[in-house]
Amino acid sequence: MLPTNREKVSPLHYGLDIGGTKIEIGIFTPELKMLESWRISTPTKDYDEFLGAIHNLIKQADERSGQYGSIGIGMPGIIDNQNKVKSANVPCASGKFIVKDLQSLTGRKVAIANDCRLFALSECYGGAGDKKPVVYGAIIGTGAGGGLCVNGELLQTVNNIAGEYGHVAASGMLLRQYNLPVRACGCGLLGCIETYIAGPGLGWLYKFFGASNESTTEFVAQLRMNNPIAQKAFTCYMDLLGSSFASLVLYYDPDVIVVGGGLSKINEIIDNLSGAIEQHLFDGISSPKIRKAEYGDASGVRGAAILGKQNALA
Ligand SMILES: [Zn+2]
Repeated sequence: MLPTNREKVSPLHYGLDIGGTKIEIGIFTPELKMLESWRISTPTKDYDEFLGAIHNLIKQADERSGQYGSIGIGMPGIIDNQNKVKSANVPCASGKFIVKDLQSLTGRKVAIANDCRLFALSECYGGAGDKKPVVYGAIIGTGAGGGLCVNGELLQTVNNIAGEYGHVAASGMLLRQYNLPVRACGCGLLGCIETYIAGPGLGWLYKFFGASNESTTEFVAQLRMNNPIAQKAFTCYMDLLGSSFASLVLYYDPDVIVVGGGLSKINEIIDNLSGAIEQHLFDGISSPKIRKAEYGDASGVRGAAILGKQNALA
């Protein structure tokens, strides 16, 4: 039986993680324990179909929980401060106002943010950045994205882009030092750090230094066998990553940098990151703590649920 008063703040929170292929919804308790989650395929071509699919997921969650949970959404792309979405992964949603449309459909407040930023928010609550005033969350996976939380809230800015470190240009000094070419990035810019330090970038570096392929799995195996090509690629990789994160320290001075995404599972990267950052900071400034993410793949729905909770209670 559903409650009849839709204005009542629900104790449950729904987090939706919208990707280019799947949409996942999770139902969370006030203590952020996930009760259940399920997935559907993402309709990417027709906006009404896309919106209808999300609405259906929310209705299913209402039926399963017997409540009207708060709604938070995360998705890749840029979501400006008017909540207009620009997303290459879900083309039908680009230029649309998902929040406004979903609020009309559900009669509830809806909050939305970029998925990498929600990763930072998730790690801020009970995760690797728990209770720290300034938490930077960096994802290094198929891409490089991140977000900044100050006193437990995502930093909201005019373009909502603060912390998007992947599309800052790589250090020209390092490109010259390692004789690296300026690479074209999918975003349309040249020389973005993402093209060197995300998963495909690491594979590319491995081949650049003489490997026969771009496999990051093989790179890790070879690194652990002290293969000189893998070692050269690793030295260059850590220098580029350290330089990029040193900029984050100078811009935001975080208490902790939480690292997630596929490459965060490579211990050699996490273990050597503080030292690599300090190589690019002047004397007297030390690296913040580097922590591996605690919530991994669940951080998408979890971060979205926290955002929805904060928005419902605001
Ligand atoms: Zn770029």
